[in-house]
Amino acid sequence: MLLVESMQSISVDNLIKKVLTYQPGADVDMIRLAFEFARDAHEGQVRKSGEPYINHPLATAELLADMKVPTSIIVAALLHDVPEDTIVTVEDIRKNFGDDIASIVAGITKLGKIKYRGIDRYVENLRKMFIAMASDLRVILIKFADRIHNLSTLNALPPHKRLRVALESMQIYAPIANRLGVNEMRAQLEDLAFAHVMPKEYEWVTGLMEQAIRVKKTYVDRVRNIIEQEIKANDIEVLDIHGRVKHKYSLYKKLLKYERDMVQIHDLVALRIIVPKISDCYAVLGIIHQKWKPLKGRIKDYIAQPKPNGYQSLHTTVFCEEGEIVEFQIRTEQMHDEAELGIAAHWQYDEDGKTASPKVRKQMAWVKDLAERQKFLKSGPEFMESLESIKIDVFQNRIFVFTPEGDVIDLPEDATPVDFAYAIHSQIGNTCVGARINDHIVSLDTKLCSGDCCEIIVDKNRTGPNPDWLSFVKTSTAKYHIKSRAKSRLTRWIRNINLESGKDN
Ligand code: MN
Repeated sequence: MLLVESMQSISVDNLIKKVLTYQPGADVDMIRLAFEFARDAHEGQVRKSGEPYINHPLATAELLADMKVPTSIIVAALLHDVPEDTIVTVEDIRKNFGDDIASIVAGITKLGKIKYRGIDRYVENLRKMFIAMASDLRVILIKFADRIHNLSTLNALPPHKRLRVALESMQIYAPIANRLGVNEMRAQLEDLAFAHVMPKEYEWVTGLMEQAIRVKKTYVDRVRNIIEQEIKANDIEVLDIHGRVKHKYSLYKKLLKYERDMVQIHDLVALRIIVPKISDCYAVLGIIHQKWKPLKGRIKDYIAQPKPNGYQSLHTTVFCEEGEIVEFQIRTEQMHDEAELGIAAHWQYDEDGKTASPKVRKQMAWVKDLAERQKFLKSGPEFMESLESIKIDVFQNRIFVFTPEGDVIDLPEDATPVDFAYAIHSQIGNTCVGARINDHIVSLDTKLCSGDCCEIIVDKNRTGPNPDWLSFVKTSTAKYHIKSRAKSRLTRWIRNINLESGKDN
């Protein structure tokens, strides 16, 4: 007992130590209080594996501390299972930790109560996830961490339950994490679930990977040392330099594209260099090219021209030592955090008064849009329909289309100029009469492709959208506006009939 007690306090100390590395002024007492509160509430409870229950919220909080989230999320993560699994209520949490923490914990508790099976369960899960996400993003981040820890301790469950949890993680959690740009969590969710959903494939990929890394490790270490010395010799500070190994599930997907041939995969290991300033990024690129010859067409400046999803970095692939091909990725710390943490990086950079990148701004806009539309989500068939369309927005592959001004609009595959118009502004959608794609006049139901430049022709006198557009639009925004316009026209018409028939009586 004493041993367990001391192990726990070591863990909460570790958690606090971690939080202090990125937030030196963090409210340490509050974290310790939350830990003790949760430990007492879960007193006597054990997990399926036999370990004390408190280890689970503690591990969940630690995963979040790795993502450098604010203290409120750490505190709520420690308390996340208290109202559901113990006699202590959300009210008790409110009294001890205030409204903000209580509302996050209440959000997680609501998400936890899902009793549906099969497709109903899937839909119900999605609905709850979207509602939670729209009302408070912090809830969904804790849910991701909670799920990652549960997946990593899945072996304690019977096989049929394991598979259900793993499938749900792959089909619901990972795509949402992906859409929010929380890549680090997306990759963990996928890799942990992969092992249970496709055990044989997982073992195959793991074997290939371990072998490749064994062969490459010494080589990559050597190259890392060479370039680190060189950069320092040029008086540039290196914040971090590490070999990035591809995640298992993404390697698996890539292998399927290349007839399962590992020889064709060149980016299993890449060297990532993190430096303080943007000017340092370009200086490091120059240093690398002075030393090794770059491959033609493989120098990518995603800093000056970010990827359509907002990703920023410099990439180059060179003929390195002994003629081996090596990829380098060079970026600042903020670019790195935003690439790995996505929307979770938002607090870190906004609270500091720095501005978030276009990437994070875009993700925030999506959640805000989702929150906006939640207000209109009602129960019944109408709800199912709107849910269906939101689901499609998340899970479809995305394409990126440019406005004549060079802005990028992010749309689902097979989207049309009408979707594009509504994505810019509802008024443009409502008054759109034609479109030009890459300077050619096209019909409004033409399918857009990634990289197209699209211009919308509007007629200010147009009274509203054509209900026939519903047969080809792909985004929920377009569907929503077309339907609500049609509906308001219908209500007006019915009201007019009523007025007229009233006159008659
Ligand atoms: Mn939990």
